[in-house]
Amino acid sequence: THFGFKTVPESMKESLVRNVFSNVASSYDIMNDAMSMGVHRLWKDHFIRKMNPTPGAKLLDVAGGTGDITQRFLEFQDKQGDSASSVHMVDINPEMLQEGERRFAPSRWQADGRISFTVGNAENLEFIPDNSFDVYTIAFGIRNCTHPEKVVREAYRVLKPGGRFMCLEFSRVENPLLAAVYDMHSFYVIPKMGELIANDRASYEYLVESIRKFPPQNEFAQIIRDQGFTTIGKGYENLTFGTVAIHSGYKF
Ligand code: SAM
Repeated sequence: THFGFKTVPESMKESLVRNVFSNVASSYDIMNDAMSMGVHRLWKDHFIRKMNPTPGAKLLDVAGGTGDITQRFLEFQDKQGDSASSVHMVDINPEMLQEGERRFAPSRWQADGRISFTVGNAENLEFIPDNSFDVYTIAFGIRNCTHPEKVVREAYRVLKPGGRFMCLEFSRVENPLLAAVYDMHSFYVIPKMGELIANDRASYEYLVESIRKFPPQNEFAQIIRDQGFTTIGKGYENLTFGTVAIHSGYKF
């Protein structure tokens, strides 16, 4: 345990995560801005620029939540004059996915049938056929999953040959001084904000703990390779000193 936070047994993790995101669904977007001081928007923008999707690309956005990645992907494609690309969003939590559906209901993307939604677990995408997507994204979702290696295995299965896996996730700040500042923010500021803004300290304590427990950059890159993906270079890019990292791999 860190700072007295209780460690959650594996068997309870899935239901706990479901509860956390049911509790935070309506305040999720505001809390993201508050906790990251708005920087999560820049990380997500960078993530899509790095993806640089081709026109007509089919994206599977897993743990898609309220749709930040989906929105940016489709905006990027609009700017290229592409009106054929599409997104399938998957999330284990119906409340989070409903926030997403609400967000896109008035959009032309929805009217044109370019967005679809399924409630499901990233560890078992049995409702998605093999070799069916060009890009797979999971942003701030995989650390909440009980078995990250199963998530990556499923990503490999559903991607077409040549397809790309991309993960945006909190990671490790390597510089010790910055890491100390970051820890203060995590252990004091974030739970306090959760209490004050979302009236839910416990959920935000869980979120901080889940970040601490997720494997560091190089270990996660190895998990991706172990499931069959080819990485380029070390397989990840740090953003904001490693506060978050983008991991990427190709199915060849
Ligand atoms: N990708 C969105 C974004 O970047 O704003 C949402 C991220 S949110 C922090 C994490 C999401 O992961 C939640 O919506 C949660 O319900 C979902 N999630 C957690 N465990 C999951 C699982 N096993 N399978 C699918 N989704 C999961």
